[in-house]
Formats: sequence, structure tokens, C-alpha cells
Amino acid sequence: MQLLADLAYLIYINVIDYLPALIAYGLPLALAWHLFLRSKKKANKSNIKQMEESRKAGLLEPTSLHPIIDYNICLGCGTCVRACPEGEVLGIINEKAHLINPSNCIGHGACKSACPVNAISLVLGSEKRGVDIPTLDSDFQTNMPGIYVAGELGGMGLIRNAVSQGTQAINAIKNSISHLGQAPLDVVIIGAGPAGFAASLAAMEQGLSYYTLEQDTLGGTVAHYPRGKIVMTGHVTLPLVGKIAIRETTKERLINFWQSVAQQTGVKINYQEQMTGIETYQGGYLITTDKNRYHTKAVLLAIGRRGTPRKLNVPGEEQSKVVYRLIDPSQYQEKHVLVVGGGDSALEAAASIAEEFGTFVTLAYRGDAFQRAKPKNRVRIEAAQQSGKLNVLFNTVATEISASEVTLSTKGERPQKIPNDAVIVCTGGILPTPLLKKIGIAIETKRGHLETA
Ligand SMILES: Cc1cc2nc3c(=O)[nH]c(=O)nc-3n(C[C@H](O)[C@H](O)[C@H](O)COP(=O)(O)OP(=O)(O)OC[C@H]3O[C@@H](n4cnc5c(N)ncnc54)[C@H](O)[C@@H]3O)c2cc1C
Ligand code: SF4
Repeated sequence: MQLLADLAYLIYINVIDYLPALIAYGLPLALAWHLFLRSKKKANKSNIKQMEESRKAGLLEPTSLHPIIDYNICLGCGTCVRACPEGEVLGIINEKAHLINPSNCIGHGACKSACPVNAISLVLGSEKRGVDIPTLDSDFQTNMPGIYVAGELGGMGLIRNAVSQGTQAINAIKNSISHLGQAPLDVVIIGAGPAGFAASLAAMEQGLSYYTLEQDTLGGTVAHYPRGKIVMTGHVTLPLVGKIAIRETTKERLINFWQSVAQQTGVKINYQEQMTGIETYQGGYLITTDKNRYHTKAVLLAIGRRGTPRKLNVPGEEQSKVVYRLIDPSQYQEKHVLVVGGGDSALEAAASIAEEFGTFVTLAYRGDAFQRAKPKNRVRIEAAQQSGKLNVLFNTVATEISASEVTLSTKGERPQKIPNDAVIVCTGGILPTPLLKKIGIAIETKRGHLETA
């Protein structure tokens, strides 16, 4: 009994002695712990909300190379979340990493490298959404001798991969040119994104006779990034230029740099020329475009995975005021603009233009609701409608475009003409798979099972 009383006295004396220290250190620690738990709870809630929004918008399937997480191994440490350069692709939910914005993943793979316990694998496609990839040999040649593929079309995203594959494919073509047929041209390169641009410089460097055909402008997908986007790219070697030590830049600076390289080297690129078909012809290939035909020994497909913009196919669409992407909203100040489409790119374009000085935007969509758009874009559209600078027309299609007007036809109503200075068509792209199949190129469908890195 005496022993217990002595022990209690001892504890009492010590607590009294250490009370000031407990108050000085313990309280701030408890407060910090409380704040930490509160912010974790808040982040958990916000991540669940974002994943739910992606699900509702039908954006739960990543388009290309993306991480899958082994939940038996994941510690929930969040290193992968912090490592991702795109931000808010991954998030921690209930102590495990999840893809909360899968469609924003562009396959950097930084999450996989950062994970301390190897819980992440990179895969292509998923069970629900298979990704069609041409079958290639180690030289990037397809099953069709003389037809090569470089860049994202072959399954690997990222600028540095595209540049390096474009260069390697041309070197392979140079090495095998004597075995290819007797056509007047050595190679026709389709696409002038990072892969096709590097390939064109490599063809010049290797002294090959070549044409590069690009349906749009220099830079491919990079030219379509949002204004000011930070671009992460490892060191690359551009043929005729050498090693480029740019790790982080903006979209605009990268495009300006490529344009200056194009100007200084004099590389030939036929812009606004779309390849429409490839067929075997007299020991080589005949490339058909919307402007010309080319007889070549080899073909390099560097057409990426975005596909060709879907057209409206209405009278007047050939006018230069009709475009298929928004580059700079400020160019539409004080103009009447028609945006066609109901997805995120249409809503983003319409809202950004409506936010410019003096604009009036009509957003025409053939559906009856913006079901597949992110809530934040729908909110922007509602705000623009309330400001009186944007009119949404559901169940509506454009039927004719003249120099100063467009004719719109809404279900159950008489067609109406509205004033118009510009049309932006955001109705998605026609994916390249059918074209590849028609050419005879063997395709594999990846369903998220392949370990690629
Ligand atoms: C929003 C976003 C952000 C990204 N950020 C980064 C980043 O920070 N760092 C990074 O490394 N990567 C990034 N990427 C990925 C990177 O942009 C792509 O991996 C890269 O552009 C692929 O290059 P490519 O040359 O294979 O294809 P693309 O860049 O897609 O170029 C293909 C070209 O082919 C043309 N084309 C297609 N069909 C035809 C035809 N029939 N006739 C003529 N021309 C045709 C197209 O017009 C296009 O110009 C990002 C991607 C996106 C979508
Ligand atoms: S880094 Fe690895 S362990 Fe940590 S949260 Fe991401 S997947 Fe889980």
C-alpha cells in the first residue's frame, strides 16, 4: 500500500515539475496534429468530389499511358501526388492514392519513379477503354515494309520520346533505303508535332529526299495546350541543332523555339495539307492528300493520337473564319462568335471568349444538356449567360456559314440567321485507327495489363 502511495506521489511531483514544459511543447504539438488531421480530412473530401466529377463527366478513363496503383502496397504517403507535374491528377482518398482526374494524365511517369514502395505501374488502356497501338519492330517499322510510326501514335507520350523516336525512325529508314522500292521520294513524313518535326530535321541531316505534310500548324498537340501552360521536357537532341537543355518552359516559348529552328534550317513542311490515304504503288507507296499525291519509298506516320478534327460538312465551312481550336480568346474582342460543341473544349472556348471585351458568343450543341462537361466549365458558362454575353442553344446545328452570318437550325423551330464573325468547331476528332487498318497496318488493343516502364 505504502509502495503505491509513494509511486503516486512520485508521478504527481514529476507532472508538477514538467507541467510548464508540457504546456510549452505539448499544446502546440497537439494543435499542429489537429490542424494536420483537419486538412487531411478536407483534402480527402475534395479528392472524392473531384473523382466523382470526373466520373460524372465520363472522364474516368485515361487516354494513354497512365499509372495503376497496387492498393496492397500503397502507403498513402502522397509522394506520387506531389511528384506529378500536371497537378491534381492523383489524390489521396482513405489513405491510398487514386487517379482523381484521369483525363489530365499525360504519362509523365514521375509518380512511378517517385513511389518509395513501387506501388505504381504504368499501363496503356483499361478494361473498359482499350487503346489501339500499331505493332512495331525495334526500328519503329510496322508490319508493312517501309511504313514506320513515331511518337504518341506508337503508344509512348511525351515530347522527348516523340523527338527521339522521330529521329531514330528516320535513321532506320536511311539504313534500309536501298532495300525499299524505286519511288522518286525517299520518305514522306505525316505530321509536324515533336515527332514529325524532329524526323523532318533528321531527314534533312541524312540527305534524304522528303516531304512533311501537316494538316494544321507546327508543334502538333503542343500548339493546342492552354495558353501559358508549363511544359516539362527532359533534355532532347534535335537533329541539325544538337542537345537542347530545356527542362521546363512554356508552350509559347517552345513553339517559338521550334519556329526559329524551322526558319534557320529551312526545313520543308507543307502546312494545311492533310493526308487522306496511303496505298501500295509500284514497289512503294502512294500518299494521297487533300491537295496532292506523292510516290515514296517509305512513310513515317507521326500523326499522334488526337486524330483529325471532325468537320461540320456544311456550305461555307471552307472560309478562313472557321477554325477547329481556340488559340487566343483575345483575338475575338468585339466579335460575334459561334462555338459548336458540348464537351469541355467547346465550353472552355465559349467561356474564355465571352470573358473578352465586347464579344458575343453563341454556343450551339446538338444535344439537350452538357452532360459530359466538367462542372467548373458549366459554372463558367452559366456566369457568361448571366452577364448577357453568351447564348446557349441546345438541339441546334449549324447548317450554313456565310461571310457575315450563320444559319442555325434548332429542333422544332424555324432556321434562324445570326450575325457572325468567326466559328470555332469543337466536335472532337476522328481517331486514326480506321485509317491505319485501311492501310493494312496491324493493330493491338491494349487493355491496361501491359507493364511498359
Ligand atoms: C494538355 C497536354 C499537356 C501535355 N504536357 C506535356 C508536357 O508538359 N511534357 C511532355 O513531354 N508532354 C506533354 N504532353 C504530351 C505531348 O504533347 C505529346 O506526347 C506529344 O505532342 C506527341 O507528339 P507527336 O508528334 O507524336 O504527336 P502530336 O503532337 O499529336 O502531333 C501530331 C501531328 O500530326 C498531324 N496530323 C494528324 N493527322 C494528320 C493527317 N492525316 N495529315 C496531316 N497531318 C496530320 C496533327 O495535326 C499534329 O500536328 C501533353 C499533352 C497534353 C494533351
Ligand atoms: S507514392 Fe506510392 S505509396 Fe505513396 S501514395 Fe503514391 S502510390 Fe501510394
